[in-house]
Amino acid sequence: MSLRSRLTTAFLVVVLGPVLVGAVFVAAVMSHLADSRGEALADSAVTMVDSTLGTICERIQASAAAVALNYRNGDQENAVEMAQLLVDREVVDGVVFSSLASVSTDPGIDIGAEAPDGSWVDCGETVAYAGTEPIVALGAQAEVQNADGSTAVFSAFREVDQEFLARLSRVADADLILQDTRPTPIEVGSADAGRWDFTDSFLPLSIGTVATDVTPMYWTLAAMVFASALCAVGLASWLARSTTRPLAELSAAAERVARGDLTVRVPVHGRDEVAHLAFAFNRMTAQTQSYVNALTASRDQMRGQLGRLGQTLTATLDLDRILEVILDTAMVTAGAEAGVIMLVDVDDADQLRERAGEGDLGITEPATIRIGEGIIGAIAAAGVPAHGRIIDGHFGDRRRADTEPDAHTIVAVPFSGRQPVDHERSSGRQPVDHERSSGRQPVDHERSSGRQPADQDRSTGLNPADQDPSTGSHPAEHDRARPADGEYGGAPRTDAGVLGVLVLYNRIAGDDFEPGDVDTLKTFAGQASVAVENVLLHRHAERLSVTDPLTGLWNYRFMQTSLRREAERSRRYQRPSALLAIDLDRFKDVNDTYGHPVGDQVLSELARRITGQIREVDLAFRHGGEEFMVLLPETDAAGASVVADRLGKAVNARKFKVNDASGGRELNITVSIGIAVLGEHAETATGVLAAADEALYAAKAAGRDTWRVAVV
Ligand code: GH3
Ligand code: MG
Ligand code: MG
Repeated sequence: MSLRSRLTTAFLVVVLGPVLVGAVFVAAVMSHLADSRGEALADSAVTMVDSTLGTICERIQASAAAVALNYRNGDQENAVEMAQLLVDREVVDGVVFSSLASVSTDPGIDIGAEAPDGSWVDCGETVAYAGTEPIVALGAQAEVQNADGSTAVFSAFREVDQEFLARLSRVADADLILQDTRPTPIEVGSADAGRWDFTDSFLPLSIGTVATDVTPMYWTLAAMVFASALCAVGLASWLARSTTRPLAELSAAAERVARGDLTVRVPVHGRDEVAHLAFAFNRMTAQTQSYVNALTASRDQMRGQLGRLGQTLTATLDLDRILEVILDTAMVTAGAEAGVIMLVDVDDADQLRERAGEGDLGITEPATIRIGEGIIGAIAAAGVPAHGRIIDGHFGDRRRADTEPDAHTIVAVPFSGRQPVDHERSSGRQPVDHERSSGRQPVDHERSSGRQPADQDRSTGLNPADQDPSTGSHPAEHDRARPADGEYGGAPRTDAGVLGVLVLYNRIAGDDFEPGDVDTLKTFAGQASVAVENVLLHRHAERLSVTDPLTGLWNYRFMQTSLRREAERSRRYQRPSALLAIDLDRFKDVNDTYGHPVGDQVLSELARRITGQIREVDLAFRHGGEEFMVLLPETDAAGASVVADRLGKAVNARKFKVNDASGGRELNITVSIGIAVLGEHAETATGVLAAADEALYAAKAAGRDTWRVAVV
């Protein structure tokens, strides 16, 4: 049964029930009133008939007595006159004189109407007539004693006929039927009498009165009940419809929402409870829609980030940019407020240096932290991911270092990338097999504990206090020497083999990081480690191709490129650039006296002294053998002379400390320097090289340990 039909039924029961009960009550009252009224009418008619009959009888008796009185006074004439007067005045219909003394012969005298034949009812009767003859008259007698002793009788009468009954009926306002023994009773009216009563008098009369007919009133009542029932049904269905329509609209809208249409809104009618519900529903769908929009936007943003990440990883070798994108994506994915990627410092393998940072948590830039120090340092030392709350600057039993941000939640994943190859221990083992942070197990089962640090996710329920470096390490890699720069690509690692740490702080939503975030971060950390290694590998390879292995200065090849580029730049902008050609004086003697290795040490030391005297923008090259070149952009001959002079002094000011088989020595070393300027002495790379060489030759010729500028 639907809500609508239930409401309709309830309303009808509540409204129609009382109406029906009331109608029945009214009908009963009406019937009772009609009965009472009929009874009263009948009573009144009976009383009227009785009293009228009484009056008629009194007049008949009085008439008989009056005639008799006149007669007794001895005057028959007067008696007859009196009788005639009474008949004329219609007091009686007739008077019969009998046994008069003066009239010797009967049958006496009749005054008025002829005395009817048949049964007379005497007015002195007190009981109802019970004779067998039909009643023809009402009569009364008076007697007078004649002188002769006979009795004269005077009978006055009223005929009981149709007319008599009609008069009586008019007076009593009732129908009358004379119930005597005649076959066709005399009757007046009787057509519409509804009720019949019997008179109390001696005359057997049925008195009919009109019974009140309540049938029309019943019909009226029934019509009213029917009309109110119709109204009630109409009202009930309107009420039910107006109540259930908004609910039906709501349910249809909810159906559409369930099908995924969040644009649906329901109309709000009025201000009742259902209207409030509709209003709340609309707010709920609007809210949900905005959440979905936000989620879609964040999904799109995530896709964008991932796309950017992929693009960046494949398209660039800019390590800082790659790390920035990785950090960005990791933060968006985990919903973090701030984050940092720290790598083991290239210059100091005992500390981590920030390479990418996002968000404002007061992270000093660039931050560094000693490995093992603070929270991040401890995680890097342990090589195990961790997440949890930082309470009062403490993460478990670790205290936050000054360079670490003051956050309240943290998730950190150290990454180690491909592990360096241990040539002594595992010949032929491919380093790339072990780990790309994809959670793959090492192929080699003999290293039973050979899980990689990135795999050691004990982050579920991991208490920072559990992070003992010894338990988080992996013996097979752990006890080996730190990879030498250049062994595998040059990325420095911690003792636990960690390249760096990816750390996120504070969730935007305000809650804590979860174990799931560690898994997410491991993906990004894995990418970071691969990126770091690839970039460093690439840099290393690139550097190898343009640097001199002995001195670390740029090599001849790079010098050619740089000179050409500088000559071009100098020509285009009409700016001078100086080139210094530096040659050790009598270096052959050093080699000959102390041996080639000592000569090499001198070359290395000289390279260091040269780089110590020049600007960031200047480039120092090993031209070959014991000859060096220094390119000084934006420098003219005068400026170059100052540099040359300073260089010469830096070389001969302190002795060169060298070691050979017999121990340490100190050598006096000097250099000669030739200066040529692009735009002044030559326009091309080869030209300026030749000019500088020539100036160098001039310096040698001038006795060495000096400098000369090329001549134009
Ligand atoms: P000068 O003052 O005229 O330059 O005298 P010099 O002895 O330095 O003469 P020159 O420049 O011709 O000397 C070249 C010597 O430099 C030859 C070689 O013994 C030495 N030499 C060149 N390349 C190297 C190197 O890579 N290592 C070492 N130890 N010596 C080198
Ligand atoms: Mg030389
Ligand atoms: Mg020389």
